[in-house]
Amino acid sequence: KRARYAAMREHEPITTNGERVTLMINAGLRDDVASVALTGADGIGLFRTEFQFLISATLPQREKQQRFYREVMDAAGNKPVIFRTIDVGGDKALPYIRAGQIDEENPALGWRAVRLSLDNEGLMKAQARALLEASAGRTLNVMFPMLAEPWEFDACKAVFDAQLAFLTSRKKALPSKIRYGAMLEVPALADALDILLPKIDFLSIGTNDLTQFLFAADRADPRLAERYDWLSPAILRFIRRVVKANEGHNVDIAVCGEMGGRPLEAMALIGIGVKRLSITPAGIGPIKAMVRSLDSAAIAAKMEELLTKPPENLRDVLTEWAQQQGV
Ligand code: PEP
Ligand code: MG
Repeated sequence: KRARYAAMREHEPITTNGERVTLMINAGLRDDVASVALTGADGIGLFRTEFQFLISATLPQREKQQRFYREVMDAAGNKPVIFRTIDVGGDKALPYIRAGQIDEENPALGWRAVRLSLDNEGLMKAQARALLEASAGRTLNVMFPMLAEPWEFDACKAVFDAQLAFLTSRKKALPSKIRYGAMLEVPALADALDILLPKIDFLSIGTNDLTQFLFAADRADPRLAERYDWLSPAILRFIRRVVKANEGHNVDIAVCGEMGGRPLEAMALIGIGVKRLSITPAGIGPIKAMVRSLDSAAIAAKMEELLTKPPENLRDVLTEWAQQQGV
């Protein structure tokens, strides 16, 4: 099977009825970037910039960050890289930032991601400047994690706007284009899409955190790992609602959580209209194979039926359907 996936590197993820699906990888270290070429992925749909902060004993300075982001983009060649601004805090505390000094009872719900960056303006400014400088002459794709309300997106973008104005005033080389995105991980944001969507270029649904918040189930607790299924009507209807809210807007919608790296889950996502997935590199081969054997119109009809009147076990029904269809 492994050889079969490797042989598919040159093939595109196109469904049997001719629909192109975008498959990108999740990454966080410089060495991860090699997986883009190795798997033939369409780029990096989630670059977790906090890894560089987590593996460092001291705060990575702006110059160092800038070199790192540039190296990542160089290594990705002409494929896009979506940088996610720092998502630390809560349980991923940094010793050199005054975070986590209050013991939080619920760190996943605590002072993390944009909540922390917006309160540490120096941290966010340095990251914004480093990303803008690293993108001189090319496109910068940047997104913000854990947004709960649209104003938080505005506040993050304002930090980038200010740094852009500074670089412009200094006649520095600028990105040829900047695309701004939001991560949808906090359920409340889904009720503000009419306000958010006109502001953004792309939306990335982080199903790891989203599931944790939808089911109120700690994503790190092994006792809960099997209890809530990604193939449940609650999560699938939720994501379908997001896709439908985008009708009339032109925002790229992707799923970047682990869910998209599992063939049956990815098939269901395609069926509810998600045509962009960012997944672990090892998933590219299996997901590509699935896509190339799938009729996207058929799965769309099937999902419509299943989500209108959900069977008791959606997973079993989808498994059987996939077998019958030769997916
Ligand atoms: C997610 O929450 O689904 C996600 C992709 O981000 P992370 O796993 O880094 O929290
Ligand atoms: Mg997350």
